[in-house]
Amino acid sequence: MQKHERTSAAMANTSSLVIEQLTLKRQQQVLLSLNETIAGGDILTVMGPSGSGKSTLLNWLTGMLPKGFSASGDIYLNEKKITDIASHQRQIGLLYQDPLLFPHLTVAGNISFAMPAEAKAQRKATISQALSQVGLAGLEQRCPQSLSGGQQARVALLRVLLSQPKAILLDEPFSKLDSQLRQETRQLVFEQIRQHKLPAIMVTHDQSDADAAQGKIISLFSVD
Ligand code: ADP
Ligand code: MG
Repeated sequence: MQKHERTSAAMANTSSLVIEQLTLKRQQQVLLSLNETIAGGDILTVMGPSGSGKSTLLNWLTGMLPKGFSASGDIYLNEKKITDIASHQRQIGLLYQDPLLFPHLTVAGNISFAMPAEAKAQRKATISQALSQVGLAGLEQRCPQSLSGGQQARVALLRVLLSQPKAILLDEPFSKLDSQLRQETRQLVFEQIRQHKLPAIMVTHDQSDADAAQGKIISLFSVD
């Protein structure tokens, strides 16, 4: 019942991520100013040289701005203001270049760890179905180290998606994968973002990532 309700809400496609009047500063120096609205299923690409503030922008969105930085402006997720709520309550999923899987947990354990509470049997079925959707059928009990880089990337993706985020942030997510694998993984990630109608922000140095995202591209400038 609960699951059905969540599915219907996701299908309504009213989701959006809004960055309103953001000014990010490091000490007293302005790093960046931004106003953006990202609709569900759209991917905003953020490019710019090292040190231009890309990761800081993502840190602000997740509520983890390091000491020494300050920000004014607001974040709205599905029309709810989340600027001042705790990181873990924001329901923003993060995908990094490293899969960051727990080595002491199985594939299923890694995914299950991030999932909202739900009956164990149901959870098991959800994980198995998701694994087969990304070409990893039957790998539930494997340990992460026994998987290839591409397989680990897919497990990390499922872990984020099954945590049921309302938006997703990608920080150089494909940069450790070789070209063929990069293309395949990228396609799978973008497909899932569109299917789940999640607003997404992707930080990348790679023009082919930006092209494949088919969304707006913004470039930050070095302030040094
Ligand atoms: P990017 O991700 O675009 O490479 P960052 O957002 O990591 O850039 O960094 C923006 C600026 O803030 C840089 O000048 C960087 O040196 C500085 N910076 C990054 N993280 C920290 C931190 N934890 N403490 C102090 N300064 C930082
Ligand atoms: Mg960075």
